[in-house]
Amino acid sequence: MPDIVNHTFENMSTAQPHYDVIIAGAGPVGLFLACELALERCAVLVLEQAADPDSPLKRMPFGLRGLSAPSIGALHRRGLLDALDLHQRMKNPFVGPSSPGAKRPAGHFAGLVFHHEDIDMSQWPDQPDGLPASLLSEMAELETVLARRACELGVTIRRGAAIAGFDQEPDRVTVHAGDETFVGGWLVGCDGARSIVRKAGGFDFAGTEPEFTGYTFSAELSGAAALKPGRNVTARGMYLQSQPGFIVLQAFDGGAFHDAGLPVTREHLQDVLRRISGSDVTIETLHLATTWTDRARQATAYRNGRVLLAGDAAHIHSPLGGQGLNLGLGDALNLGWKLAATVQGRASEGLLDTYQAERHPLGARVLDWSRAQVALMRPDPGARALRAIVGDLMATRDGATYVAGRVWGLGTAAVRIA
Ligand SMILES: Cc1cc2nc3c(=O)[nH]c(=O)nc-3n(C[C@H](O)[C@H](O)[C@H](O)COP(=O)(O)OP(=O)(O)OC[C@H]3O[C@@H](n4cnc5c(N)ncnc54)[C@H](O)[C@@H]3O)c2cc1C
Repeated sequence: MPDIVNHTFENMSTAQPHYDVIIAGAGPVGLFLACELALERCAVLVLEQAADPDSPLKRMPFGLRGLSAPSIGALHRRGLLDALDLHQRMKNPFVGPSSPGAKRPAGHFAGLVFHHEDIDMSQWPDQPDGLPASLLSEMAELETVLARRACELGVTIRRGAAIAGFDQEPDRVTVHAGDETFVGGWLVGCDGARSIVRKAGGFDFAGTEPEFTGYTFSAELSGAAALKPGRNVTARGMYLQSQPGFIVLQAFDGGAFHDAGLPVTREHLQDVLRRISGSDVTIETLHLATTWTDRARQATAYRNGRVLLAGDAAHIHSPLGGQGLNLGLGDALNLGWKLAATVQGRASEGLLDTYQAERHPLGARVLDWSRAQVALMRPDPGARALRAIVGDLMATRDGATYVAGRVWGLGTAAVRIA
């Protein structure tokens, strides 16, 4: 293996520090990728637009995220899983109640719950001993753990540095953030759904438009006893009260409310909640609210010269079934060692392009998984009839095992690492 050249702070013609890789975004994907690259002794700079990493939307219950088997395995192998101690204490509130003697909910597809007792785990003999196939994590905790590890490994994280654009030359990328410029050999856009790197890099972002606006909010309610437990698909949308005063809604408005960027008021949420649930529940005080959609788009290419995309910057879809974070962590795992080998001149020809070849089809599969769920949740008689049939199939051993395998990412060999 040739000597590894660490280019940090080497004076180039620009007289600026030169990093092997600049990463846009200190979300979970950017931070995990930074750790992977730093483990391979790359000099890494992460530029993050937010000055403060903390946000109530990253903390419980808003920041709750399901981790699938490949993510759990990867975090375990990197010695990071034990640092995530919140998951030990959490029960999944998104899959509905479990009463004594009843089957234990394991997850959902389009709001239809599948159960542990129906799943044939012998299908996945490779699942490492002692590691669960799914866990819950909190975004704030996950990012804290990853940022701490990245710093231990020598990664530089600059917060309050919003990337506005970049210039690409044959041997480098110059990144502009505020009044400053940063020079790197490569740039990876991990800057989320509205990625500047994707837009400035001219990446095509192809896909489908939303069918609904999703709402997640916490509030003081009166008359909440009228709301049924669990995830309820009604003739007008979906509502879920996963814990007292914490509500998720889907209103089939073509994504209009979310896309209009209007403030989410107590009055608006109450109207939507009453319409969907058919109850006269009252929102007394609104604490915190956020909206999202089922827009499903994917970059047609993950690489343009020295610029690459990973995570939500490369693909977006509805959070139904909790796959986006796992998909992004898988991107980082796949890309990290390949980009490091390329930086260090030890990659075989075409190695870096296997990133797109391997990850793009998995991303497309997840987008279709989320689209299929939306199709089953549409408030129309055809979808209702189809839901009943899919629900019956999911109650069978083969059906539950198939859905669990997809939701938990079991058998997805391409995202595993040695
Ligand atoms: C309600 C909800 C529930 C979800 N549940 C799950 C789940 O259970 N399981 C799951 O796998 N996924 C889930 N997801 C999806 C998951 O949260 C995302 O896929 C994941 O956060 C993507 O990580 P990321 O690092 O790619 O992007 P982000 O988390 O969006 O991070 C991007 C970072 O880039 C920064 N940034 C943006 N622009 C710039 C710029 N110009 N310059 C510098 N920095 C910039 C941002 O500030 C941010 O810190 C859910 C999503 C939602 C909305």
